[in-house]
Amino acid sequence: MTEKKKNKNSALKVNKGIEQPSSFNPDASNRFKKSRQELLDVESYVKGILDKNRTVLSKAITLVESSLPHHQKIAQEIIEHCLPYSGDSIRIGITGVPGVGKSTFIESLGKSLTNQGKKLAVLAIDPSSERTKGSILGDKTRMEELSVDTNAYIRPSPSAGSLGGVARKTKEIIVLCEAAGFDTIFVETVGVGQSETAVHSMVDFFLLLMLAGAGDELQGIKRGIMEMADAIVINKADGDNLQKAKMAKREYTNALHLFPPADSGWTPMVETCSAKDKSGINKIWELIDQYQTLTKNSGYFIQRRKEQELKIMYETIKANFSESFDNNPHIKLMLPAIENEVLTGKISAYKAAQKLLDSYFKDLR
Ligand code: GDP
Repeated sequence: MTEKKKNKNSALKVNKGIEQPSSFNPDASNRFKKSRQELLDVESYVKGILDKNRTVLSKAITLVESSLPHHQKIAQEIIEHCLPYSGDSIRIGITGVPGVGKSTFIESLGKSLTNQGKKLAVLAIDPSSERTKGSILGDKTRMEELSVDTNAYIRPSPSAGSLGGVARKTKEIIVLCEAAGFDTIFVETVGVGQSETAVHSMVDFFLLLMLAGAGDELQGIKRGIMEMADAIVINKADGDNLQKAKMAKREYTNALHLFPPADSGWTPMVETCSAKDKSGINKIWELIDQYQTLTKNSGYFIQRRKEQELKIMYETIKANFSESFDNNPHIKLMLPAIENEVLTGKISAYKAAQKLLDSYFKDLR
């Protein structure tokens, strides 16, 4: 920006002869310009994706992940155009605590699938990614063979935003990957809480990896997560661990029988495998195949995907409402005093909420 222009555009009145600071970070402006220059038109993105061009796919995913409004606008248009070409895949959620062997398992099962000619996309939801910038699940070297496999595409977790936001974006990335011809989608998550529920709501089959003899508490696995599982796979069933793994298989099978039957009509299975030795891996794919056959024949497969879509719609509405409420300037002004009134018992929590909501809706009118 020229000096003259800078002065003209500045909101500050600056005395002559004093150097004027740039009104914004020049680095940021360069980055912005760069990202603008790299943008294609929507048609080119869509064509590239349908042509299975990975560079274009990756660029489109970057737009989905971006929080810039003009990126989001293009991303949404790309998604709309890709939707009719999506859906023809099996989406599999894979979860388990760090160290259980998720990436080793994905590499083993993934290689076996790509060797059969399947096209595999591996996506990740990493709730800690805001802190670690996606390094836990984003490190491609964790899956050395798959990352150089032409039938596989590995995309690290979007590294910013709320879990809800990351989950929505992952769902949108699934659509793009499917339109680009990927017929098998793995969504990996670290088993530490809420992210499993988010993944469960976007996949057809949910696989929980466990270790033998580590104790449920140690593994951080809550009952609710076990209840969501279509298969529990006890990994590291090799060497000295083999017997323990077999015992754990019996225990988990008994535990699963205590859960109410699933809507899918599928009885969750427990299997053992060694991701490292690549043993027991094919058996797990057979399970997933059986699940597909059963649920496609019964109509559950399609029904569940439709329900998932509706759920996303409602969640998006809720998230937008609550963001709009939180960002409303009147609400922001009112909140400290009203909070205080609730804390000191002057008004009830219900009444306080009503007062705030009334004010919010009055603003909208
Ligand atoms: P993640 O954090 O869940 O992705 O786990 P990793 O795949 O990175 O595996 C953690 C560690 O367990 C690594 O040292 C792996 O080599 C090891 N590991 C993974 N699968 C197996 C297995 O089947 N048997 C044995 N013995 N070790 C395994």
